Amino acid sequence: MTSQRRTFDGIPSRCWCGKGIVTYVSKTDENPYRRFYRCKLGLKRKKEDHLFKWVDEAMFDELRRIDAQQAITEEEIENLKKCLKKADERVDVGCIGIIQWLFERVCN
Ligand SMILES: [Zn+2]
Repeated sequence: MTSQRRTFDGIPSRCWCGKGIVTYVSKTDENPYRRFYRCKLGLKRKKEDHLFKWVDEAMFDELRRIDAQQAITEEEIENLKKCLKKADERVDVGCIGIIQWLFERVCN
């Protein structure tokens, strides 16, 4: 590929021109049987800059994206756990506080 193509993160679903994406199999000597995504329009208008992406590269991007997303989710869960723990502590203190307050009211 000689032209500078816009990079697309993950598995593409649509070209930037709005057309759908089709999966083809490369028949070149450099990349025999390698699958790629191509804009339907781009296949007819080869001189224009339409979406082209190797399927394996797209899969790799997608995995990297999922990995990053998972790391964020794990961090969020950890933060939620900390929040819950703090809330729990507060509830405990709160309940004891109320009981003490009630005891004082009833006993005095
Ligand atoms: Zn296109």
